[in-house]
Amino acid sequence: MKSKILNLLIITVIYIKASSQFIGRADYILTIKNEYRTHKNFLELKQNYKLIPKYYYMIHGFMPVRCPTDMSRNTIKRLLESDYRISRVEPDYRIDAIGIPNDPFFKKQWSLYNSTNQDKDVNAVKAWGLHKGSNKIIIAIIDTGIDYLHPDLFSNMWRNPGEIPGNKRDDDRNGFVDDIYGWSFDEGNADPIDRHYHGTHVAGIVGAVGNNNIGITGIMNKVSLMAVKGLGDFGFGWASNLIAGIYYAVDNGAKVINASWGGTGKLEAMKDAILYAKSKDVIFVAACGNNNRDNDIWPFYPASYEVSNVVSVAATDKNDNLAWFSNWGKNSVDIAAPGVDILSTVLKDNYNTETGTSMAAPHVTGTLGLMISFIPYLTTKEYLKVLYSSVNPMPILKDKCTSGGRLDIYKCLYTMIPNVKKYQTALLYLLEQEERNKK
Ligand code: CA
Repeated sequence: MKSKILNLLIITVIYIKASSQFIGRADYILTIKNEYRTHKNFLELKQNYKLIPKYYYMIHGFMPVRCPTDMSRNTIKRLLESDYRISRVEPDYRIDAIGIPNDPFFKKQWSLYNSTNQDKDVNAVKAWGLHKGSNKIIIAIIDTGIDYLHPDLFSNMWRNPGEIPGNKRDDDRNGFVDDIYGWSFDEGNADPIDRHYHGTHVAGIVGAVGNNNIGITGIMNKVSLMAVKGLGDFGFGWASNLIAGIYYAVDNGAKVINASWGGTGKLEAMKDAILYAKSKDVIFVAACGNNNRDNDIWPFYPASYEVSNVVSVAATDKNDNLAWFSNWGKNSVDIAAPGVDILSTVLKDNYNTETGTSMAAPHVTGTLGLMISFIPYLTTKEYLKVLYSSVNPMPILKDKCTSGGRLDIYKCLYTMIPNVKKYQTALLYLLEQEERNKK
């Protein structure tokens, strides 16, 4: 037993060494100019200013650091700002998960199928008649981690195909040792397990295993959920971890990123990461906040970053009203989705209902995943056009978000049908060609 514990400790140490030099808050987040993004410059900057970088390398010009203690923060900031290789020096800051705990005994997935009033659900059952998802589509849940051992999530977890579990090597050379289900940027190790609940709840809404005779069904019955732990066990984390998580998700094949967290602090370094996602056609879905205010006036980030791949999501309730806590924004919030009393997975094989725009965002994330798995070759712009034009328009939402309506999954898929025919024809052609090549 003793040696087992010792082993575990050693492994932990190795993981930390392989991924990051320190965990927790960075003093500053440096953005390195495009033309200077080399490892040589990384090492020089580190040495010249006696910095401790969080990671052992620069991630697409992103470089969170701690400063030497023998110099004042302002002095070092000025020095860094005047370095010709650095375009920005921003402070790291705390970001919180968004969620309002609620009645644990209301156990029903009304948002997917509203038995008393089907006009007010998102038409999931009808949508599943068209398509139920696929394990080929990777959805990154950047959150408090995922309880990947939950029986209703386990078989829908992403498993890094290039990595051999537990051999203490970075088999796929993506910079992360033994990253099987994802990565914990919060703890700097390969275990993105959730000990809070928030990330597990969000993950279940997107992709709890469907048709397995237990618990609930995610919007995607089948999916690969990537666990990117950027928030800690108490439901908050540092911007630097969330930014690193965005780069990880994009670089490892996620098609959609769910961000059910945020704050009022704006960081250009985070916007850069979202722009990077955009350049790789990755959609970024963000909860618009639970402060009951207008994001047009009081921006809430990351939902309010003005990048076209960001989908900012407000929450509605069972009666199709804007939820009492939900933020809104005629110009800055895009769509509404159910976010009150949402049943989903939580820790220790359990289920619970939660409330918040945190729960609304994954409804949209799951829908986009379903759309991408239905027809994989469209652009972000095309998927979002379908998403926004397929809403259930509601007078009450007309001035609250750009699409003026609430999510309708069935309409999204239905709208795409003509494309499916084209896609199937193309697929058939490719298969025939493959057959011919075999001969
Ligand atoms: Ca790896």
